[in-house]
Amino acid sequence: MFAKTLRLPFRLLGIPISLDLSFLVVLPLLAFLIGSQLPVYLRLLQISPPPDWFQGPMPYVLGLLAALGLFLSVLIHELGHALTARAYGVQTREITLWLLGGVAQLEQIPRTRGAEAVIAIAGPIVSVLLSGLFAFLRTVAPPAAEGQFLLGYLSFINLSLALFNLLPALPLDGGRILRSLLALYRPYLEATRTAVAVSKVMAFALGLLGLLIGNLFMLLIAFFVFMAASAEAEQTVLSRTLEGLWVRDLMTREVSTVPPSLTMAELLDKMMLERHVGYPVVEEGRLLGLIGLEDLHGASPQTRVLERMRPPLQVSPDTEALAALQRMAEQGFSRLLVTDEQGRLIGILSKTDLLRALQLRAAQMSLSSHPR
Ligand SMILES: [Zn+2]
Repeated sequence: MFAKTLRLPFRLLGIPISLDLSFLVVLPLLAFLIGSQLPVYLRLLQISPPPDWFQGPMPYVLGLLAALGLFLSVLIHELGHALTARAYGVQTREITLWLLGGVAQLEQIPRTRGAEAVIAIAGPIVSVLLSGLFAFLRTVAPPAAEGQFLLGYLSFINLSLALFNLLPALPLDGGRILRSLLALYRPYLEATRTAVAVSKVMAFALGLLGLLIGNLFMLLIAFFVFMAASAEAEQTVLSRTLEGLWVRDLMTREVSTVPPSLTMAELLDKMMLERHVGYPVVEEGRLLGLIGLEDLHGASPQTRVLERMRPPLQVSPDTEALAALQRMAEQGFSRLLVTDEQGRLIGILSKTDLLRALQLRAAQMSLSSHPR
């Protein structure tokens, strides 16, 4: 979901700000929607504008201003999370604005018990304060209909933002609060699993409600919450389990290599004999590439390794295991070659190595979470 982002050329409180493509699509759409539903908002806010308002582009200008105000409000909400996290010693890697609002990406999950709940609730609190501020400004502002509409809209939208974010569904703030509270009484991964289950029920209920009242946008949000909750769960399990593990801890050190001149038939024999499915291709001590079982597909027995190998994906032994796994996933490789500063091959790290480490860690964690 964060594949296509645009980074803004400035930082706020030292934090980089990115716009997700989905946000850039939704902003003009939102401006248009607000503009075209302006009469509804005006009635809700009890504003009666001069009749010539609706002749020109005014509704859409106001729509755009309101949408930009919403964008700024979401950003301030996220800064509320980031500043609270900072108070717990956790830095924010980046704030991303996307379809459903904002995400403040924390560098790690705060370790202090209950800290996640405090950081999560800071956002909705900021939104409620903003809502109050705009409502107050509206009472002291001059009675021009434009200003009255914008202040009234922003007060309303910030309150909605706070309420929506308090839904107990990951990755919304309410879901994080729920998880953090659950984690006071049980292991973190178990708390995550329960929170994800609750999130899916919430998403389902939201989707059903959207369907019943014929609100397509609600249906869309429900779908995204459902997908994002699962992704969040996976990410949490991975980062918690691989935390503190480095490539050097997991790599296989005795590396069997093959020369580029080897034929596929010979390679397959070697694989069967040694029970490995991937080899670095080395010639006279030089690392040339990587060949795996998957590269054999469609090759003739006489094809040489040279014609089929891929460029080696190299990694330093001092890389975090999680980062290594992410690189494999991004580039579609199932093994990485571990090289030292001189570019010498010192090990190989396969997805199997990582998965085994994951399983061992998970077993270890579930054992240590039981009282002896
Ligand atoms: Zn939030």
